[in-house]
Amino acid sequence: EAARASAGPIGNRLTVLSGPSGVGKSTVVAELRRAYPEVWLSVSVTTRKPRPGETHGVEYFFADDDDFDRMAASGELLEWAEFAGNRYGTPRGPVLRKIAAGVPTLLEIDLQGARQVRASMPEATLIFLAPPTWEELEKRLRGRGTEPEDVIARRLAAGRIEMAAEQEFDLTLVNTSVQDVCHRLIALLADAPEASSPG
Ligand code: 5GP
Repeated sequence: EAARASAGPIGNRLTVLSGPSGVGKSTVVAELRRAYPEVWLSVSVTTRKPRPGETHGVEYFFADDDDFDRMAASGELLEWAEFAGNRYGTPRGPVLRKIAAGVPTLLEIDLQGARQVRASMPEATLIFLAPPTWEELEKRLRGRGTEPEDVIARRLAAGRIEMAAEQEFDLTLVNTSVQDVCHRLIALLADAPEASSPG
């Protein structure tokens, strides 16, 4: 489409991966980083408590409410949103520096954040990661075993809203296979020819 084809080098370097909680975004991103180390993944700030195995500065920067308030108020965040009772935001500086340096840059954020990026950086490519079926999404979210039922319920409710917004994205990838999704993402991030084919 014309807007995409004429996007400058900046927009071509910024990709947003979104999709309902439990769809497998983190697994896809982990595989992507293994298979394509050239990609730089933004590390978000969150007020959520670390899950077992998560390390400050790796999966997230874990912050308290005051720290988060300060960052949001001072414009340090490129976008931020409240998701299922916690706040999440993308530090602006590192993202702008990586893009300026020509590094393929990936944000893994929720729908509200994706919309903010769409508004502030219209050249960014927005990718929606969809589950094969809704039932599969529920199964994956529960199977993770990291959240109590009320949190799962909130995440599923948010997931219904996210699923309804699929058409706002440039491209949908159905997560039937992590390898397949990863392959498609690498093509996009590397600006390979198949990246421009829809679907
Ligand atoms: P989780 O708590 O499962 O790690 O993440 C919950 C949701 O927050 C996921 O949909 C994830 O993509 C999203 N998220 C993570 N970091 C950010 C961020 O910096 N901004 C926004 N808007 N969403 C984020």
